[in-house]
Amino acid sequence: MGRFVGRNVLVTGASTGIGRACAIRFAEEGANIAINYNRSEVEAKKTAAAVHKAHELQGYTDADYITVRADIGHEDQILNMFQSTLNAFGRLDVLINNAGILWSSPSHELPSEDFDRITGVNLRGAYLCCREAIAHFLSREGGGVIVNNSSVHEIIPKPTYLSYSISKGGMENLTKSLGLEYADRNIRVNAVGPGAIETPINAAWIDDAGKRAGVESHIPMGRAGLPEEMASVFAFLASDDASYITGQTLFACGGLTLYPEFRNDWSTGN
Ligand code: NAD
Repeated sequence: MGRFVGRNVLVTGASTGIGRACAIRFAEEGANIAINYNRSEVEAKKTAAAVHKAHELQGYTDADYITVRADIGHEDQILNMFQSTLNAFGRLDVLINNAGILWSSPSHELPSEDFDRITGVNLRGAYLCCREAIAHFLSREGGGVIVNNSSVHEIIPKPTYLSYSISKGGMENLTKSLGLEYADRNIRVNAVGPGAIETPINAAWIDDAGKRAGVESHIPMGRAGLPEEMASVFAFLASDDASYITGQTLFACGGLTLYPEFRNDWSTGN
């Protein structure tokens, strides 16, 4: 029996990458899925088809899904997304705050509009989704779970990606503060911190053997991660298997947060 049978899960940014993998993974474990997307209805439909197939393959004939368009950078659209999800399912049990964007610029040339847009989706949008989910969780019995998609850049600086780095740093505190504030009301808030994962956000190197080798040379486990390897961590943290965990970021990064430069001694014995 899947861990999410009869539970309703909203995944933001679920048309591609880790969000899609999460939608499929939760469907494989029996959940009803609200698939949020922003721009590409075509990609959202691909996620929906995969969710439908997962339900069928696992025999969850009663399980359902919807696609719901909303730009996580806009509060009114977030409110509509929650309303659509509740209209469809009647209740929400799990929020996966996954939508995220990044682009590069020297920090001394970073336009404030870019800063506002990136932090607006990655952090402000995540906070607004948390607020709406928690308000709903508190409105009925049974609590609820939030899992945020953070990054190793929650703790590792990312020069020339200042807005992204700040947004993920803020996500650590968002996760901890909400985890603490609602710990006594059966609401858990955690985060996953991925390393370098094979998704469209990394299109610049995943299909280029030379660039990929360069990226992977920095990863202690010697390879990029797969979206499915992230989805399993989201599913764990959202499940009752993690019933005593709140306010934590679980890094799933092939060792990237372990100060890889220190693998070989360069400061003590040479
Ligand atoms: P991705 O580009 O495939 O996924 C990002 C998703 O967010 C896309 O589906 C996109 O449409 C959606 N999105 C972007 N802006 C949106 C908006 N305004 N409203 C709604 N949806 C929006 O890449 P991914 O790697 O799957 O990224 C998912 C999350 O994982 C992001 O938060 C990212 O920061 C995080 N992450 C990824 C990696 C990695 O190496 N891939 C590492 C660390 C963290």
